[in-house]
Amino acid sequence: MPRKEREVTMRRPLMAGNWKMFLDIPGAGKLAEELVSGTKNVTDRDILVCPSFPLLSRVAQAVEGSAVQLGAQNLYYEESGVFTGEVSAAMLRSVPCSYVIVGHSERRHVFGESDELVGKKVASALKQGLRVILCVGELLEEREEGNTKRVVKRQIERGLDGVEEAALEDVVVAYEPVWAIGTGKTATPKDADNVHAYIRTVLSTKFSKTAASEMRILYGGSVKPENVDGLMAKANIDGALVGGASLKSESFLRIIKFET
Ligand code: PEP
Repeated sequence: MPRKEREVTMRRPLMAGNWKMFLDIPGAGKLAEELVSGTKNVTDRDILVCPSFPLLSRVAQAVEGSAVQLGAQNLYYEESGVFTGEVSAAMLRSVPCSYVIVGHSERRHVFGESDELVGKKVASALKQGLRVILCVGELLEEREEGNTKRVVKRQIERGLDGVEEAALEDVVVAYEPVWAIGTGKTATPKDADNVHAYIRTVLSTKFSKTAASEMRILYGGSVKPENVDGLMAKANIDGALVGGASLKSESFLRIIKFET
């Protein structure tokens, strides 16, 4: 694989699939098995799938001993208690999941999750040994009003409120412009890279420059086999969070095996 600027920075790409509220137990098991067999020779990047809660155990069984890691799409910040319908970090650890997505735009905008709630979820997940993918991104009207930077800065600062620098090695940020999720519209590689560079500046102000330079920032929003190579060629794009195109092994395997 040709070398590129990003490799110099030592950030290992993370290619993550968000299966959202799709699939059933047999379908998730089959997809996970196809991903395991299709990535046997992939050693230079991390691979993650995030199925919905009822599918986690079956997928855990399918990916055990492979390079495919398992994550959940959400959690609640309390450790246990009378919270009907909620799932704790400890429950996810026991599956075992290693990652959890927090603050996905569908959680923020369909289920009304605030920055404060997202911050509590991040803190709880980290405290209980999960790695976090913190999603940030602006709505179309926020972009059109020129507020992209303001929105992602607020989401990063509040999402990582109280997080110690030492815990940052377990945090990945995903920049997902809301107008690009599930719409077929993708930010251009240049636009996405610019926002990623800005996110790194925000991180280096809140934490140290070194910590910011080591953090992985994924792009999400209609990533497909046709556009992944161009996105991954950018210096500040360290991986992808993929929705629709992660639901079929053929397209997700092509995305995982991006070439720059
Ligand atoms: C997502 O679910 O995080 C996502 C980016 O979805 P899609 O790839 O379908 O736009």
